[in-house]
Amino acid sequence: MRTLIENLDVAFLVNARDDILRGASIVLEDDRIADIGPAADIAARYEGADFDLVMDGTARGICPGFVDSHVHLSETLSRAVFPDNLNTRAWVFHWAKPFYAFITEEDEYWGALLGITEMLRAGTTCFLDMGSQYDPGITIRAMQETGMRGITGRHAADNPPAELPRGWTDEMVRHHFFPDAKAALKELQACVEKYHGALDGRARCWVNIEGKEPCTLELHVGARALAEKLGVGTTYHLATSIEEAKVCEEKHGCWPITRIARSGGLGENLVIAHGAAVKDEEIDLMAEHRTKVAFCPSSSYKLGKGATAIGKYPEMVKAGVTVGLGTDGVSAAGNLNLMRQMFLVAGMFKDARLQPSIFGAREALRAATIDGAKALMWDDEIGSLEVGKKADFILFDLDHIEWTPFHDPLQALVYSASSATIAETWVNGVPLYAGGKVQSLDERQLRFKARQLAAAAVVRAGLHQEDVPTTTTLYDSGN
Ligand SMILES: [Zn+2]
Repeated sequence: MRTLIENLDVAFLVNARDDILRGASIVLEDDRIADIGPAADIAARYEGADFDLVMDGTARGICPGFVDSHVHLSETLSRAVFPDNLNTRAWVFHWAKPFYAFITEEDEYWGALLGITEMLRAGTTCFLDMGSQYDPGITIRAMQETGMRGITGRHAADNPPAELPRGWTDEMVRHHFFPDAKAALKELQACVEKYHGALDGRARCWVNIEGKEPCTLELHVGARALAEKLGVGTTYHLATSIEEAKVCEEKHGCWPITRIARSGGLGENLVIAHGAAVKDEEIDLMAEHRTKVAFCPSSSYKLGKGATAIGKYPEMVKAGVTVGLGTDGVSAAGNLNLMRQMFLVAGMFKDARLQPSIFGAREALRAATIDGAKALMWDDEIGSLEVGKKADFILFDLDHIEWTPFHDPLQALVYSASSATIAETWVNGVPLYAGGKVQSLDERQLRFKARQLAAAAVVRAGLHQEDVPTTTTLYDSGN
């Protein structure tokens, strides 16, 4: 199948030079980009050539599909359930964990479909998912149905709190925690062997663990070593808040990233989710070991993780650390929309530092595309519009009010346009979102089913009750 999209008004290539073309055409051969360049050059090169499909790109802009570097698809039914005044640790242990523990395999499947639908509508074409509480095959089935690309895994932890918090049962602990690091790694290896490379390579499976207090040091270090042995990556939460860093300091005498580094746990196949509480010397450690970071602006805003107060993301990028953007999930961030993350990150550091020249639109677009692809170790195939890469892209409607008028396309994309201006989202050479709907499913039925399942899950987890704690001392001492 050979497709030509001709005379696009704007093309954001996000190549090494960050080229933005005015008047461009793109040629697709099945699932790959066969050619892209100025419209006149493409017209000359393909004069008289046959195409199976020719599309008019007038009043359209093209951009690489967004890469969500950190998401919890299994949690998508928890939208707007937890209060918005919780610190990260209370949020995790008293709200998110009970929710995780009570969702069923059916909930996960519909949650993944719902999350992927929101992503495709907002231009996301690939994700790094923290993984299933049951089996990565659940998310992969949703990817198969929708045509999405992504990385998933089996969510794993091995260090339950010494004392069970309200609402937790022994059964929950058995469901949520492996007995030890060895048992967790054995299961994670089996998942990678079974699912990595599924759906003709569109689905990948990593050695993902939850990270921080619910995981032993052995599991953190072991996950990355196992991932390296299997030729894949690992991702986990770390240094997610200043409270976590302080608890780590009290218990272990150092901040979280230093603790992992001292045990030989850093490496280029590790994506640290959040990395909000980081010291200057820890940036050097991450750069030295080529460890990646997934920064989640909405999650930081909503949970008060302190990206603007203590976050060192511009410094990380300056030091050569790859920083991708993530959404973290609908309960943490409120949405799975990378355009919102781009907008936030392209202004938050300017404002916090009173420095308009720091981390602007160009860096934000790179973080949402090519740098996310690098974090996912997939930049050989995605993250930019270049010959030979996969045909994963977004077509924007430039005739939309939010694009009217514009001179600098980059500023219009990052500061003016919302995902309402997305006309089509393509993955692997296929338009998965077009004509106002995700093509492969009945969105009305999906919304109905999701509302039903979500309401039941909230009640099962007891999160509708009045007495759910909003602070925590779990993990402060003991284990
Ligand atoms: Zn997360």
